[in-house]
Amino acid sequence: MYRTCAFCNGKLDGDGGPSGLGVGRRLAFDEWKGRLWVICPKCTRWNLAPLDERLEHVEALARAAGEGRVAAATEQVALIRWRGYDLVRVGRPPRLEFATWRYGERLKARQREQLKFVIPLTVATVGLAVAVNVAAGGSVGVFVWNMPNIARAMYTGIIGRRTVGLVEPPICERCGSLMHLRAKHMAHARIVPDGTAGLGLVLSCPDCRSEGALLVGADAQAALRQGLTYLALARRGRERAEDAARLVEGAGGPDRLIRDVARRELTLRSIAPERRLALEMAVDEQAEVEALERQWKDAEEIAEIADGLLSTTAELEEELRRLKNRKPLGDQPSS
Ligand SMILES: [Zn+2]
Ligand SMILES: [Zn+2]
Repeated sequence: MYRTCAFCNGKLDGDGGPSGLGVGRRLAFDEWKGRLWVICPKCTRWNLAPLDERLEHVEALARAAGEGRVAAATEQVALIRWRGYDLVRVGRPPRLEFATWRYGERLKARQREQLKFVIPLTVATVGLAVAVNVAAGGSVGVFVWNMPNIARAMYTGIIGRRTVGLVEPPICERCGSLMHLRAKHMAHARIVPDGTAGLGLVLSCPDCRSEGALLVGADAQAALRQGLTYLALARRGRERAEDAARLVEGAGGPDRLIRDVARRELTLRSIAPERRLALEMAVDEQAEVEALERQWKDAEEIAEIADGLLSTTAELEEELRRLKNRKPLGDQPSS
C-alpha cells in the first residue's frame, strides 16, 4: 500500500489498524464489492487499496466494525468508531441492526425533547408545592410526586394541539365544514390502502365526528407522521425500538408493513402500540427513500470511478469535480 495520497500527495496518517494495510486512520470499505479505501486526512479524498490486497483486509475491517460504535449512519453509509480509528462502512447493511440503532436514537431524542419541558415545569411546581406544603404544615406531599406526570400530560397536550401541516385544509363531505386538523385528531383517522400512493388516510371530522375526507400521497404521509408522534406520547407503553424494528423486518420491509396495516383499515389509536411504533418507523423510512436512492447512486458512481472504470485522469478529475459540485442532499426528516 502506498503511503501518500494519490490526490494531494500528502502523507496518509495512521497504521491501518485492524485492516492490516499498515497505513490509514480513517478507512472505508464495501464488504459486498470488496472495496477498501484509505481516506486522506488532508484532502479527505478516498484512496483505493490495490486489488490484490483487498479481500482479507476488508474482512478484518468488517469484523472490527462489528465491535465498534456506530456514530452516524444512513441506509448505506455508516461511520463506526473503533478504538482510535474511524471505519466507514458503505454498501447495503443488514436492515435490522441499523433500524434499531436509528430508531433507538430517535426515541431517545424524543425523550430528551420532552424532558426539556417536563423538568423545568416540575422544578418550578415542586418549588411552589414545597412552599405550600410548608405553609400547610406538610400535608400535601402526594401532590409533589404527581408533578412529572402532570407536566408530561401538559406536554402531550401541546403536541396534540399542533396543527396538521396540510397545503389546503380538507372540507368535510358530511357537514361541509373546513376541517381544522390538529395532531390529536389523527388518533381517529383510519389508514386505508390507496392504489397509486400506497396509503390513504380517512379523516374523522372534528366538528361532526364522521369520516369526511380522504388524504393521499404526501399529505397523508405528513398527517400520519404527526398523528403517530402524538400517539407515541399520549399512549406510552413499553414498546422498544428493537421489537418494532423486528416487526418491520418480519413483515418484509417498510412497504410491506404499511400495506399490511392499511389492509386492516384500523384507526391509528386502535393499532397496538408496538405495531404503531413499527408503522412510524416504516413511514419514516419510506419518506427517506428518495434521498437515499440518490446517495446510493452517488456512492456507486464514486466507487466505479475509484475502481478505474473511467480510463483517463482527465476524465476522472472531471467526474470528481462534477460530483463535488453537486448540490447537497436534503436534510433527513426528523420526528
Ligand atoms: Zn489527500
Ligand atoms: Zn363534518
